[in-house]
Amino acid sequence: MTNAILNDGVIPEPQTQAVRDLLATTPDKQLFINGEYCSPKSGQYLETCDPATGKIIARIANANQTDVDNAVAAAQQALKGPWATMTPMERSMILNRIADLVDLHMDELCELEVLDQGKPWFVARWAEVPAVAGQFRFFAGQALTLDGNTLNPSVNYQPEGKQVHAWTVREPVGVVAAITPWNSPLILTAMKLAPALAAGCTIVHKPAELTSLTALRLAELITEAGVPPGVMNVVTGDGAQCGSVLASHAGVDKVAFTGSTATGRAIVEASKQNLTRVTLELGGKSPAIVLPDADLDLAIPGIANGIFFNGGQVCVANSRTYIHRSIFDKVVEGIAAYGAGLKVGHGLNQDTQMGPVVSAQQAQKIEQYIKGAKAEGATILTGGERFGSAGTFIQPTVVTGTSTTSPIHCQEVFGPVIVAEPYDDINEALQWSNDNEYGLAASVWTENLSTAHRLSRQIQAGTVWINTHSMFDPAMPIGGMKNSGYGRDSGKQAMDNYLEWKTVCAVL
Ligand code: NAD
Repeated sequence: MTNAILNDGVIPEPQTQAVRDLLATTPDKQLFINGEYCSPKSGQYLETCDPATGKIIARIANANQTDVDNAVAAAQQALKGPWATMTPMERSMILNRIADLVDLHMDELCELEVLDQGKPWFVARWAEVPAVAGQFRFFAGQALTLDGNTLNPSVNYQPEGKQVHAWTVREPVGVVAAITPWNSPLILTAMKLAPALAAGCTIVHKPAELTSLTALRLAELITEAGVPPGVMNVVTGDGAQCGSVLASHAGVDKVAFTGSTATGRAIVEASKQNLTRVTLELGGKSPAIVLPDADLDLAIPGIANGIFFNGGQVCVANSRTYIHRSIFDKVVEGIAAYGAGLKVGHGLNQDTQMGPVVSAQQAQKIEQYIKGAKAEGATILTGGERFGSAGTFIQPTVVTGTSTTSPIHCQEVFGPVIVAEPYDDINEALQWSNDNEYGLAASVWTENLSTAHRLSRQIQAGTVWINTHSMFDPAMPIGGMKNSGYGRDSGKQAMDNYLEWKTVCAVL
């Protein structure tokens, strides 16, 4: 069975006028600084294309040092302006208005995201973009909860007749550089912007160079919602010229980064000089463990969806699965059949279930992993090839017979590729799960409550799902252990990334 390719080489007609206009004009998009668009001082632009067809859909500015300086200066200035004196309630109301505007422009944002990133319409429309509004609503609530503590000190050298009073307050950390990747551009952006705005910070956002269009549109909506000029700035451009300058900028107080582990290390290096605060949401190689008592009607589609959703370009994708030998054939054949039956094609076709990967470079990287596995004697149960007359499509791929040290098994492939291996003893599956540099997420599939509890404690990962995978909510913190990074997005814990504690001690 081979996957159907829908709209091979052709862009379906968008539903929204804004996206029809974009396709008709292939615009040069500018930088968003101090509440308005301005052309880059660098004078440089980078092409951005639709990965399903390879067609160039826009050019984005490639910001240089001067552009980044201007954006950071605007963000520093805005820290002294009306944003600083707004009450939490006022900030909260603005965040709710941003959510309402996202809802109002939902179809346009979804179409932009689909065209720029390649994701299927249903991923944008029913998962990611509604979750953007959810992030702003959740953190609108968190803005109202920023209280400190009254302390009870025991100091005994206060002047006669006086008392020591001490308390803590929480203050915004200052200018936040939010640097984000290309796989789920808008929701990963919202996961940084919503808590940073709720905390009262100002922001310079650098989206990924492959997928900057929705970030620019979101900055417009944030401004329309009442965020003062300079609070929300967007500098587009590549990592070497724009990202590294922003990450090492002396005017930046905090870098909130999502991306690869290699870039995360570069960010930490860049932060050393100014001791800039850093949080890192990095790569993963998340395991799914299937126990013999698992509900397979749930586990097979759940694991297949956990890897093929968004073409496997999900940081928490279950890219390896360990299945008890007694049910191995049934489960692995079920996952392969699910993959082989997916409708692959242009994301603007509403029937598409899986799109292309984001770029030719990414497709080549995935092909290399598959080639390496074949050379090592692994079995490709389904998929394994690049296909389609245009664009960067990789077949949903299931691989078995790999060793736990082979690159496809232990490194992040970031594509629609899952390795599946049988285990005999659960401790073996647990050891394989933990014997990896990453610790982002995992899932356990079992009907036994005590097994589920025990494994959830023993697995080294920031999130452990039981009988599901890749379930997100703004209330649930997400982030990594080990080389998957530190700090958490989402949940009330995300507020900690953007706040400083201040202690006030008074003799009165
Ligand atoms: P990447 O690290 O290549 O790029 C991420 C961002 O960093 C981009 O905006 C890029 O331009 C910028 N950048 C690149 N070099 C830089 C430098 N030297 N200094 C500052 N910025 C620089 O990652 P990617 O390929 O865009 O995204 C895929 C990766 O992101 C995968 O590893 C994936 O697991 C990870 N990811 C993690 C999470 C999470 O929550 N843990 C979520 C999504 C994606």
